[in-house]
Amino acid sequence: MPKILDGKKLAQEIELTLQQTIESGLEVAERPPGLAVLRVGNDPASGVYVNYKEKACDRIGVRSFAKHLKEDISLEELRETIKTLNQEKNVDGILLQLPLPSHLDEATLLRSIDPDKDADGLHPLNLGRLIKGEKGPRSCTPAGVMSLLKRNQIKIEGKRAVVIGRSILVGKPMALMLEAANATVTVAHSRTTDLPSLTREADLLVVAAGKPYLIGKNHVSENCVVIDVGIHRLPTGQENMNELKKTKLCGDVKMFEIEDKVAAYSPVPGGVGPMTVTMLLANTVDRWQKHCGLPLTISHLLP
Ligand code: NAP
Repeated sequence: MPKILDGKKLAQEIELTLQQTIESGLEVAERPPGLAVLRVGNDPASGVYVNYKEKACDRIGVRSFAKHLKEDISLEELRETIKTLNQEKNVDGILLQLPLPSHLDEATLLRSIDPDKDADGLHPLNLGRLIKGEKGPRSCTPAGVMSLLKRNQIKIEGKRAVVIGRSILVGKPMALMLEAANATVTVAHSRTTDLPSLTREADLLVVAAGKPYLIGKNHVSENCVVIDVGIHRLPTGQENMNELKKTKLCGDVKMFEIEDKVAAYSPVPGGVGPMTVTMLLANTVDRWQKHCGLPLTISHLLP
């Protein structure tokens, strides 16, 4: 097992496989896979993520149907947009970029995506399939973590896993995927008491709290594999703060404190982030194969 779990490199390898898969299926399918990423409003972080996703589509030959919708769009208008994409035969995957402006009900909108085109696996039917261990599109970030663990031959079965965070986007599906892989999983959240003694028991620690530098050397044991899902840009002025490394992007983990202590870790940037985008592409290509009646050849890339 390598010490640094390199998500960037693995993402590139998987993208190559996806690109070849598209090339070899194009003649029969008579169209490329299509992905619609919906961005609502002007949240700058969402803008950056949507941009990454569009570029990734271009790189591997997925046709992008990205839409940038106005901040004050009504729930009905947005549902109509989703309905149109549900019916568009060239679209295989739909992703609603979160967070949404506060007047829009996330649950209602996620439910209005056709479960068969649900590129981020957040439709209740697909979350139910995850709970039941049935096949279906899986949420991209935890799917990316599973892929990173698998490719680096990190044993999950029988291990004690702690997931920090219980969001529908990351923490909950992450815990379910690890449990399905036969880890014994504990989920921690903001009301968990004595987090350090809990996390010190973990063989595998997945941190998705959304709190910069929450986890340090007192939270981990020496045999632990640490996956940092968090991603933050430190506000200007804090970049040279005390002994913290000079950095703009950081995660939920003080990697500079734990890197010499733990067995392996995923860096930020270059760990989970690139894998999330790649799993979105993988979900889209898998849907495309299904919609076009092609053999499903990339199932092994999906958890
Ligand atoms: P979220 O919806 O804000 O959920 C955060 C979770 O962490 C909540 O369950 C919360 O507990 C828990 N939490 C907060 N503070 C905590 C603390 N001090 N101790 C223990 N648990 C704590 O965030 P999210 O959408 O899951 O995202 C988490 C992080 O991952 C963010 O930094 C986000 O930017 C990042 N992210 C990265 C990628 C990527 O591709 N790398 C993708 C998605 C998200 P409660 O439930 O009790 O509030």
